[in-house]
Amino acid sequence: MEKTTTSPRDVFRFCPRCGGNFNLQDTHSFLCAGCGLHYFINANAAVCALIIDSRDRLLLTVRAHDPAQGMLDLPGGFVDPLETAEEALARELREELDLEIDSLTYFGSYPNRYVFSGLTYFTLDLAFVCRAGDLSGLKPGDDVAGALFVPLPEVDLEKIAFDSIRTVIDAYRRSR
Ligand SMILES: [Zn+2]
Repeated sequence: MEKTTTSPRDVFRFCPRCGGNFNLQDTHSFLCAGCGLHYFINANAAVCALIIDSRDRLLLTVRAHDPAQGMLDLPGGFVDPLETAEEALARELREELDLEIDSLTYFGSYPNRYVFSGLTYFTLDLAFVCRAGDLSGLKPGDDVAGALFVPLPEVDLEKIAFDSIRTVIDAYRRSR
């Protein structure tokens, strides 16, 4: 049996418009031999929040679902179509933790591979340093099984779900 992976080149085999053969053009696009549809695999925008409390502890979430269920993560998620990164971050913090943020500052962008339901999505995680007034009433919901504050130097990167988020936390620690 032919070996398949979660790579789009193995998953996307037929044109979604006409069902014709989808031919890989280069590493990031497919061209349909039947109708000419040229489909590009772009990075999916995602956002994550670096939030530090008054005791210099980093806010982490526990992932409720796969991928990486039970591992630690930064609050955040995918940017919806036609949404700004700032709107996505505010929405995700509201959905995941019932938390309203007062201000945010762009920190950097971090590419990642995110495997979900047998398909690899290429993401670009946009990290923001956020300030929030009241961190006492966090209510984990949506995709989050729990929330915890960990002293920044003590965050164990091995328990963080994704390469990109490990790199974000490491870069943030070095920047301070
Ligand atoms: Zn087609």
